[in-house]
Amino acid sequence: MDPREITQSVAEVIDDVRRRGDEAVVEFTRRWDGVELEAETLRVPDEVLCAGGEDTSQQESAFADAFRRAAERIRSFHARVRPRSTQFEDGEGVVLGLRWTPLRSVGLYVPGGKASYPSTLAMTAIPAQIAGVDRIVVVSPPGPDGEISPQVLLAARVLGLREVYRVGGAQAIAALAVGTATIPRVDKVFGPGNAFVAEAKKQLFGEVGIDLLAGPSEIVVYADETAEPDWVAADLAAQAEHDEDARITLLATRPDVLDSVRESLVRQVRDEPRRDTIEAAIERNGTFAVVGGEEEAGARIDEIAPEHLSIQVRDPWSVLRHVRNAGAIFIGQESPVAIGDYYAGPNHVLPTGTTARFASCLSVEDFMKRSNVVSMNLDFIRRRGCDVEELARGEGLPAHATSVRLRRESESTKHRTKHRTNYRAAAAGRSQDGDLKQPPRARHGVRSVTPYAIVEEDAEVKLNQNESPFDVPVEVKEEVARRLKDLPWNRYHQKLPQSFLERVAEDASFPADGVIAASGSNLILQWIFEAFGGPGRTVVVPGPSFSLYPLWADVAEMRMVTVALGKDLQYDSDAVVERLRDLFPALTILCLPNNPTGSEMEVSAVREIAATAAERGGLVVIDEAYREFSDPRFDRTPLAREFSNVVLVRTCSKAFSAAGMRLGYLLAAPSVATELRKIVPPFHLSLFNAVLGTVLWERKKIFRENISQLVSERDRMMKVAGELPDVEVFPSQANFFLFRVPDAGRVFEVLRDCGILVRKFGGDPLLENCLRVNAGTPEENDRFLEDLKRIL
Ligand code: PMP
Repeated sequence: MDPREITQSVAEVIDDVRRRGDEAVVEFTRRWDGVELEAETLRVPDEVLCAGGEDTSQQESAFADAFRRAAERIRSFHARVRPRSTQFEDGEGVVLGLRWTPLRSVGLYVPGGKASYPSTLAMTAIPAQIAGVDRIVVVSPPGPDGEISPQVLLAARVLGLREVYRVGGAQAIAALAVGTATIPRVDKVFGPGNAFVAEAKKQLFGEVGIDLLAGPSEIVVYADETAEPDWVAADLAAQAEHDEDARITLLATRPDVLDSVRESLVRQVRDEPRRDTIEAAIERNGTFAVVGGEEEAGARIDEIAPEHLSIQVRDPWSVLRHVRNAGAIFIGQESPVAIGDYYAGPNHVLPTGTTARFASCLSVEDFMKRSNVVSMNLDFIRRRGCDVEELARGEGLPAHATSVRLRRESESTKHRTKHRTNYRAAAAGRSQDGDLKQPPRARHGVRSVTPYAIVEEDAEVKLNQNESPFDVPVEVKEEVARRLKDLPWNRYHQKLPQSFLERVAEDASFPADGVIAASGSNLILQWIFEAFGGPGRTVVVPGPSFSLYPLWADVAEMRMVTVALGKDLQYDSDAVVERLRDLFPALTILCLPNNPTGSEMEVSAVREIAATAAERGGLVVIDEAYREFSDPRFDRTPLAREFSNVVLVRTCSKAFSAAGMRLGYLLAAPSVATELRKIVPPFHLSLFNAVLGTVLWERKKIFRENISQLVSERDRMMKVAGELPDVEVFPSQANFFLFRVPDAGRVFEVLRDCGILVRKFGGDPLLENCLRVNAGTPEENDRFLEDLKRIL
């Protein structure tokens, strides 16, 4: 068809889809694909896509297995090259950054007929998934039987894609760009197609984002006498078999190299099933030339700007410095282009038709966009604002200048924090903080956080802080006091803290140098963020969870990614594993049993998470503050012995009634503990902590009774509360549980007025109308239950 006719016909399709939506899509499908569909049957039903990838024939399952392995490699490459947001504070206190966010929705076009390539679906869907795109839509034209190619469907199944439509051609691109009742519009369209598809993308660009306009395949092979002529010829033929318009080029260092490759090509093509296509491509667009040296070869390659470049010479890496324009570069004769087409990992969607001069291979950033981030304060405006006013006036934009001047001249304190007010007092020489001219400024991460809010202290019945209702027995207190009295307080102590650590290690069958103790497990967790976190690193946390994790992540200037718990507030360990595969974070924090939900995770699932994280040296931290209340089957001590990237953080605050005494500890592989010890200050563990720990460990047994009483009280409370109307109780393995009521704010307040404190939560939608209550003494629990019954 004449290009002008294509332009005209595509414009009509777009116009019609815009006006009549699904009706037009169905009509064009009938006209061009010869298939009778209705709006309701455009979408491939879930049953087809959720068939669990069961493949009927053996051949299909061999294909599926190979596809899965290819997808794994593609996923792992793209995860490694996902762009990361950056943020820094310049020397003048201005926070500047570049923030990457995924596109909300994308449409992936997969051509039909003989050019139906599941590999193309993998190459577009996987980077979209790695980017974190919310909605991934696939469109592909139906065959004569009305169905999409089974291989494309299989690929969609394996990749977990659920929104697939049987529609192709310009009408598919139009539907994706403008939206119909059945196919909601997307933000950007990807994927190759025929001339109509390419034209539709061109015409709709602007209204919708597009990737690039794919043209016929191209390859340049640069070969010398060390190249194997049969291999070079096969690489040329492989690209030529795509399309009669494929452009294939051989640049050889010598005429005899050229001749032997041509001979081999003739020989090989004779037996190729796609012989006609290959021969036509060579005939039309084949170039065979001898080039002088590397420099000349580089100049020729840059001029051609090929989609694929294969360098098959003695020292292939040295050619690289002469090459600028190429979509993908395959270095050395042992790196065939076809491996890159399917399997190596990098994307096979590449710029063609000399666009490699300015365009790049497809990658994760094409499914994302970046925003600038700027944050400053009036100190900077006062110092530098005049420059901006000058520039704005120079450009004839006085309102710009005013917006800066108003701030520069501002004396107002209404939007300033107390801290700033002090600064102004200091500048005026009236400082309460000495005579500072400028307040010391903490790091950006520290400034960005709101401090942990300590909850209300006083109430008759405190069931809000997960504390034990039972104090440490008096004889234990006396024993601690007696031992402390006999020890010199004027000395730094080394031996006693050390022997406590050895005791803990022995009990857990851990090496002694894998144990660290501190004043509370919070401090240990904070050290972990300091040592293994940091700017540019990612921490994955299933949530909602303990409220201090996001604070520590912010302070450490890390990116925190939350993997949502299920609606039932149970862990979704598959989702965690999937996220780890995408992000390979430096840190993963699991709170088990979880605060505030009480949920646990089977050891087998924790093992899978640990093994996944271990692939890239990710540390998995398990915060076990409430482990003693959990079923013994959840014991993770053996797992931590087995996996050197698993760390267990524990506390004496809850089960050992020692919240006020501040004692926590960690079990880790010695290699991890060695890193942490670098930031643990010398003689950190006080004599008091060491003695307390030693005595608690000697008398551990006496706490057993309390623990089992608290567990049975928890179960009793959960049962009674669960039977109240409109109360939803979530299963718990901790000394507390979470429950949902119709109006948590009111229930919280009325309970408080009755002298009972429970914990309420703001913010997380999963915790909406939820309250957390811990088991107290039986009397306290009765009082809570009675009051709750009355309120509801
Ligand atoms: N982790 C979790 C999940 C907690 O709930 C708490 C205490 N509320 C801690 C750690 C800190 O305990 P510690 O008293 O040992 O600092």
